Amino acid sequence: MIAVDAQSCCACGGCVPACPVGSIHIIVNNRAVIAESCVGCGKCIPFCPHGALHFPEEKGDRQKPIQRWFRPPDSEYDIVVVGGGPAGSTAARFAAEQGAKVLLVEKRPIVGTPQLCAEGVSHSGLADVIPEIREKWIAAPIIGAILVSPEGRKTTVQHPKAGYILERRVFDRDLFSMAAKAGARTLIAAEAIDFIKTDDHIVGVTMLCRGQSYEILCKAIICADGVESGMLSRLFPKEHLATDQIHVASQVVMSGVEVRPGFPEFHIGRNLAPGGYAWVFPKGEAFANVGLGLNPSIGSGESSWDLLERFVERRFAGEGEIIEVASGNVPTAKRFSKIVYRNVLFIGDAGRLSDPVSGGGIASALLSGRIAGQLASEAVRAGTPEKTEIFLSRFTDLWDKLKGRQFAFYWKAKTIFAALDDDDLEAICRVIEDRFGHGVFESIDIPGAIKSIIRERKLFWKVAKGLYPKGI
Ligand SMILES: Cc1cc2nc3c(=O)[nH]c(=O)nc-3n(C[C@H](O)[C@H](O)[C@H](O)COP(=O)(O)OP(=O)(O)OC[C@H]3O[C@@H](n4cnc5c(N)ncnc54)[C@H](O)[C@@H]3O)c2cc1C
Repeated sequence: MIAVDAQSCCACGGCVPACPVGSIHIIVNNRAVIAESCVGCGKCIPFCPHGALHFPEEKGDRQKPIQRWFRPPDSEYDIVVVGGGPAGSTAARFAAEQGAKVLLVEKRPIVGTPQLCAEGVSHSGLADVIPEIREKWIAAPIIGAILVSPEGRKTTVQHPKAGYILERRVFDRDLFSMAAKAGARTLIAAEAIDFIKTDDHIVGVTMLCRGQSYEILCKAIICADGVESGMLSRLFPKEHLATDQIHVASQVVMSGVEVRPGFPEFHIGRNLAPGGYAWVFPKGEAFANVGLGLNPSIGSGESSWDLLERFVERRFAGEGEIIEVASGNVPTAKRFSKIVYRNVLFIGDAGRLSDPVSGGGIASALLSGRIAGQLASEAVRAGTPEKTEIFLSRFTDLWDKLKGRQFAFYWKAKTIFAALDDDDLEAICRVIEDRFGHGVFESIDIPGAIKSIIRERKLFWKVAKGLYPKGI
């Protein structure tokens, strides 16, 4: 039986699909576990980037070949991008395409794994930044949506070009390699630790890679290190996401379940998912991402796992198998006030740039990545550090014009909707049914829908009061 070195294993899951007899399981946040059914073939061993798997008799140092192939980074770049998710890879790609010398560092040993996402993205959110959509990124098209009210009433919205359920593992890896193809130096298992500062300027980052520490000098730094951005905490130690600024989410991937392909389901209800919603995103026939996110500031104290379990029992009545589990925080926040600080940009989830109502952040990650990459590549050519900083300061305005103002409105709407009870939510579902439940839509005007909810029913004066305290 194959053995696991507990200290080296990071539970990334890279070995799981390599096992021909399905004997490797990941205990979340812990390590890989080899089941009795292991036939000891060793096919998994080369798939572990940390050399944590070995034949029992040879507790070998499997890192050696990888260490030999490893080419250390240069000591100086124009731009360092921290985080190889959609935001970071996109920023690195666009900066490198415009001629900047870019280093992209990703702390995980396997890009895109583990997968912490329901994988839904709108067509425009993807195509506006990356028009060359590849078939292998798409698990299933989205051609509409089903809204399920607290009382269980279903509204089906038909929207044939709505978007896609992605294969995030494939998508994230492709974006990472597109950055490399554009000329960026890409490093995995490389964790940015801190900024290097002089008296006057931020001049680089320190990072750890394969047990070695590096000091990398650069002119600009793009932080795309996700919702728990460690880089943001380094610069702003007192800045924390409050409990009303996140959805705590849990998700399972289920097979053998009855779903309507093309139609993601959104289930709302104060008891079902306080301040959030439960989702079923079909990835194919009888195969779906099923999850639940809640606003912990208004919850009853029940965990998202407990609520998800109850939802799964109710929705699938004992059908189906759970084949993967994941949990994480989704920023449903106001954008971070300092997405530009001197020569540092915070983008994607790190800058809290996701949609505060849905928590969807893939499209924002791509868009902010493109703007940041293009802007930074121009900024580093400005000449002096002072000029670079002035150039980068445009990022806030650029973002706010494209999405920031719209999301500021959504943030307000979200805080008010979070306070509504099930009767109000039921009534909102009726308004949505009247507006979108009949006919086929080419696009959905969400700000318009929010406004119509407020205007169409006197019942919603309390919503309107919150949104427009000075009157509509
Ligand atoms: C359960 C769940 C479901 C979701 N469903 C959807 C959905 O259906 N649609 C949608 O649009 N959004 C969804 N989201 C949100 C979406 O996943 C994120 O908004 C999106 O991934 C943000 O991209 P990003 O590149 O900003 O950050 P991430 O994808 O989080 O990437 C950040 C990267 O930085 C790396 N990193 C962190 N620290 C360092 C460091 N110090 N050095 C080097 N690398 C570092 C991380 O390993 C990671 O790879 C969901 C989120 C959750 C938790």
